[in-house]
Amino acid sequence: MSYRTEEVAYVQPAQPAAAAQAAQQQRSTAEYRALDAAHHIHPFSDMGSLNRSGSRVIVKAQGVYLWDSDGNKIIDGMAGLWCVNVGYGRKELADAAYRQMQELPFYNTFFKTTHPPVIELSALLAELAPEPFNHFFYCNSGSEGNDTVLRIVHQYWATQGKHSKKFVISRKNGYHGSTIAGGTLGGMGYMHEQMPSKVENIVHIDQPYFFGEAEGNLTPEEFALARAQQLEAKILEIGADNVAAFIGEPFQGAGGVIFPASTYWPEIQRICRKYDILLVADEVIGGFGRTGEWFAHQHFGFEPDLITLAKGLTSGYVPMGAVGLHDRVAKAIIENGDFNHGLTYSGHPVAAAVAVANLKLLRDDKIVERVKTDTGPYFQKKLRDTFANHPIIGEISGAGLVAGLQLAEDPKARKRFANGGEVGTICRDFCFNGNLIMRATGDRMLLSPPLVINKLEIDEIVAKAKYAIDATAQQLGIS
Ligand SMILES: *Cc1c(COP(=O)(O)O)cnc(C)c1O
Repeated sequence: MSYRTEEVAYVQPAQPAAAAQAAQQQRSTAEYRALDAAHHIHPFSDMGSLNRSGSRVIVKAQGVYLWDSDGNKIIDGMAGLWCVNVGYGRKELADAAYRQMQELPFYNTFFKTTHPPVIELSALLAELAPEPFNHFFYCNSGSEGNDTVLRIVHQYWATQGKHSKKFVISRKNGYHGSTIAGGTLGGMGYMHEQMPSKVENIVHIDQPYFFGEAEGNLTPEEFALARAQQLEAKILEIGADNVAAFIGEPFQGAGGVIFPASTYWPEIQRICRKYDILLVADEVIGGFGRTGEWFAHQHFGFEPDLITLAKGLTSGYVPMGAVGLHDRVAKAIIENGDFNHGLTYSGHPVAAAVAVANLKLLRDDKIVERVKTDTGPYFQKKLRDTFANHPIIGEISGAGLVAGLQLAEDPKARKRFANGGEVGTICRDFCFNGNLIMRATGDRMLLSPPLVINKLEIDEIVAKAKYAIDATAQQLGIS
C-alpha cells in the first residue's frame, strides 16, 4: 500500500513562511527567551547555562516538522519525546478533544461512576493488546504508570498470601520516569544522586548493552544470555520468596536505544516463571507501533504480566498513562476487595477521547502495519547502508522506527571515546544547527520519528544525520 502525506487531514491553516509565522507570534524570540529565563525552570536542564544561551522557542508543528520562532523549519527525528506517533496537526485528535470538552470535560471514576470515553478506550485497548490483556488502570504519565505498577504488584502478592514478596529487580541504565518510585526503579545514577530518599526494596542488575559492556569474545547472544542470568543470581541472593517482580523496557529508550540480542527476553521470562516472579514490561516508548508491532514485547517474543503505557497512547496530544494487567493479575486485583490507589484524573474523559481517536488512526490508517512492512524496514536499511564502515559509527541498533547510533573512536575494536558525552553533544549541536532533532544520550545518537513519516522524509533525516556525524568526525580530526 502506498502512503502519501497529502492524504492526511492536517489542521489548517499552516503557513510555514517566516513572515506569516512572525505575524502570528505574540512576542519576538528575544522577548520569549528573556521571559523563559526569568520564570521557567526546565526539566533535566542546567538552567544557568541554558539561560545564558537561550532556549529554542518552538511555535508550531505539522506532520513531522516543527517551526521555531525565527521561522526555521526543523525535521523532528524524535517525535517530540518519543510520543507523537501519529505526527503533528492531526485534526481527528483536536476534534475529539473539542467535542469531549463540550460534552463532559471532567468527571471522576472514583465513586461508582464511569463515562463513555474511558469505557471506549478500555474496550479498544483490550482489542489492540495481546489476548491476555483485558483490563487497564489509568494515570497521567509513564512515571505514574510505574508507581501504579508497584501498587498492583504489592497488592497482587498480598492477595496470594505471599507477604514477603517485596523486592523489585530493575536494571542499571533503565528509565522508568522521574517520580520517586520511577526514579528509584530507573538505573540512572545521576538521578539517584539528587533524590531525597528512595523507595525501599528496589535493586538493580546490569543492562544488556553489548557494545559498551561485553568483554572478551562473547557473541551478542552469549552476552545477552549472561546478562539475563544475572536476574537468576540476584533472585537466589535475595531469596525467591522475597522477590515480587522484575521490570524492564523491552528495549531501553532513554538509555540509548539498547536492543538486547534475541536470547535475552526468553531467558528473563523463563527465570520469572521458574521463581514465580511477575514480569513487567515498561512499554512507554515501545508501545503503539514503535518497533512495527503494537507492543515491543511482541517484537521480542515474550509475555509480560503487566505493561506500562503512556507517550504514544495519546501521541502526546494530551497527557495520559495506563497500566495493562494480564488476566491472571487482573483477576486477583478484581476479586479481593479495595484497591487503594487512584489519581484525580485517572481515565480523564478528554485524554481518553483523544487516546481513542489516536488509536483508531494508528489502526484504521494502518500506520503500525506500514512501520512493520514498509517504512520501518526502509529506515533501518537506509541507516545501515549509509553508515556502513563509517569511521565513528560503531553499531546501529533498532527496529521499525527507532534507532540508536553508537559513536565510537574505533568501531571495529568496539572502542568508545574517552569523552563520549562531549562527542555526543558536539554531534547533537551539528544536528540542531542543521534543523534536525536527533537526541544524544552519552555517546549514542537516537532517532524515533513520528510513525507517519514517509520515505522522502526518512531520506531527509538520514542525510542530515550523516552530515552532522561527518562534521563531528571532521571536528575530531577522524576520517
Ligand atoms: C518516558 C518514560 C517514562 C516516564 O514517562 P513520563 O510520562 O515522562 O512520566 C517511563 N518509562 C519509559 C520507558 C519512558 O521512556
